Amino acid sequence: MSRAAALSRPLASLKGVGERRAADLASAGLQTVDDLLVRFPLRYEDRGHPRPLAELAPGRIASAIGTVVSATIKRTRRPGFSVFEVTLRDRSGVARAVWFNQRFLKDVLRAGQTLALFGKVEQGVGGLQFASPQYEILADEPLAGGWLGAADGEDADTGAEPDPQPAPADEHLGIVPIYERIGTLTPKIQRGLVVQALAALPPDQPDALPDALPDPVRRRLDLPTRREALAAVHQPAPGADVEALNRARSPGHMRLIFEEFFAFQTGVLLRRRARLAERKPHTYRVDDALREKTRALLPFPLTPGQKIAVRDIVADLQRPEPMNRLLQGDVGSGKTLVAMLAALVALESGLQVALMAPTEILAEQHARTLARFFAPTRFAVGVLTGRRAGAERRETLAAIANGAIGIVVGTHALVQETVQFAHLGLVIVDEQHRFGVVQRADLRKKGAMPDVLVMTATPIPRTLALTTYGELDVTVMRDRPPGRSPIATTVRPESRRDDVWTFVRGELAAGRQAYVIYPLVEESEKIDVRDATAMADHLSQTVFPEFPVGLLHGRLAADAKARVMDAFSSGALRLLVATTVVEVGVDVPNATVIVVEHAERFGLSQLHQLRGRVGRGTDPGHCVLLYQSPLTDEARARLKAIAESGDGFALAEQDLVLRGPGDVFGTRQAGMPTLRIGDLVRDAAILVRARDEAARWLDETSADDPVLAGIRDGWADRFGLVHVG
Ligand code: ADP
Ligand code: MG
Repeated sequence: MSRAAALSRPLASLKGVGERRAADLASAGLQTVDDLLVRFPLRYEDRGHPRPLAELAPGRIASAIGTVVSATIKRTRRPGFSVFEVTLRDRSGVARAVWFNQRFLKDVLRAGQTLALFGKVEQGVGGLQFASPQYEILADEPLAGGWLGAADGEDADTGAEPDPQPAPADEHLGIVPIYERIGTLTPKIQRGLVVQALAALPPDQPDALPDALPDPVRRRLDLPTRREALAAVHQPAPGADVEALNRARSPGHMRLIFEEFFAFQTGVLLRRRARLAERKPHTYRVDDALREKTRALLPFPLTPGQKIAVRDIVADLQRPEPMNRLLQGDVGSGKTLVAMLAALVALESGLQVALMAPTEILAEQHARTLARFFAPTRFAVGVLTGRRAGAERRETLAAIANGAIGIVVGTHALVQETVQFAHLGLVIVDEQHRFGVVQRADLRKKGAMPDVLVMTATPIPRTLALTTYGELDVTVMRDRPPGRSPIATTVRPESRRDDVWTFVRGELAAGRQAYVIYPLVEESEKIDVRDATAMADHLSQTVFPEFPVGLLHGRLAADAKARVMDAFSSGALRLLVATTVVEVGVDVPNATVIVVEHAERFGLSQLHQLRGRVGRGTDPGHCVLLYQSPLTDEARARLKAIAESGDGFALAEQDLVLRGPGDVFGTRQAGMPTLRIGDLVRDAAILVRARDEAARWLDETSADDPVLAGIRDGWADRFGLVHVG
């Protein structure tokens, strides 16, 4: 059988896998032999070398082998409590093993068996004893009912299926891989299956491999072959480094992880290269006259970061291939202005611009900002949001279609079928992480091949930038406009809320504004979330009767939301009680305090975003994080991190470590690759290396290389990714 065939065999083709086990395996996502092999053991146990019973020492972990002399349940004085005791003998002496409340062992272990034990040795009343050790019956016929010994002391397997190929008799020695239990499949059963699958693999033949790691790269990096790596991971050699195995840092682990990232990155780079080969139908005119006009429109001098961003973008626009750039700027770094300048270049070149925002509130806010910015020009701004219906919407659509409207801002309404552009040249997506990938792709279809600028204020850790955004060029703006004071962040238990209100009252009395944020607005969530609605009433009637208080949450109708937001922007409302609808983008410079209730429920990036709502003017900003006790360790770590750092980039990296890649954005991120073994946190360095090696290999490889073809064909299926951008 070829290697490829051996790997793609269904698991049911293994001896010992009947319908029930096949179904269990499938429910864990394991269908083929390859799936089984590319699944690392959960951990490894070094069961060392068996010690003669006479040499056991108390307090040590040890393994031993002996013959069972007796096996009995001991009564104890505590009702309902039982001790199962085995006496074991070898040539050197005798020792005992005890298990508590495991009565079923009386049907498993009995006199005459040869037994291997692994566990902690203690001083018992009658001599040394193993306390609840792991055990394995080495010599005995299996009991009726297909009992399979379990390395973790799990319940006996009652499945009627036959024992898979028995594991080698000496497997209890040395380093034993422990797999995560799957349904009826104990770690031991899985070990047997893996041994069987490995034995069926033909030796490495370079031409028969579905191996995503090309041989030249493998040799250059001095990595083991795929077969060697699989063997080393599943059947570690006796002297192998257990600690490295347990950290997934053994050569076998690293090679398999590298391979996965390599294949992934090769696909990303291929897409990127395909994009660079595209030719957009439109061109941009950038000359001194335009620069002059731009300068006249600027409301303030650009920050160094904004200058660099504009320069990058304008250079992209002038290239023959469509732009696909990610602009990452920390909260408040002034991305909107950069977007408007890019839009101006497109408009002056006779092209239309679409600006997409994730929420109505943000779209309307942008509409106001754009109207102000473009007022002195001849370019008309159109707005398409759910709230603008009827005749207004029809007129806007017609003006977009005939080119009378140059720049249109909207929510996802922009990607609806009914929106037709006359000559769309540039698409800008604000707060990109809030969108699904598909919407962006749809929007792109509206123009022949528009340039795309995506912006996000949630800094993206480097590993995510290399995966989810691997095809994009990236510009980072780290600075904020001058004259901003840093935001003071304080963390307080809920019990101190009254002190916090006193502080807020001070700010309000000084003419400034405040936000109070709640994680959720639905009481139906059974968790103890203070209802924002009730709180708004309480605050306006009891706590701050002297100030106008507004309420904003996702359940409000679009025009109600807009009214509230307008009133807060204009200063008519002084305090805004809101759910996280204000999380992204909202810009009210006179607001100086933000109080976040149940801060322990928010992710770091979300908290950072919320905090970014204040400190946008010249007055110092204050962020107060109220938490409910008791805090989990992770929540405590998050609150500590946010209080200590104002750097969104550092916080994003930390969020990734604390909560894992899927949660960095508060929502599961579209476009995240499905990785089988690679871990974006643990294996970040391997990822970066794989990226470099993939680029190098692509440069030196011909397009018809079989490994390349294999990666290309299987890529989308393998990583479950939708095209980004
Ligand atoms: P974000 O990057 O979070 O989207 P915004 O674009 O909303 O930030 O800008 C934040 C605030 O900073 C706005 O009030 C904007 O007018 C102001 N701003 C932007 N650029 C500058 C600049 N170069 N100098 C001074 N203020 C600026
Ligand atoms: Mg913004």
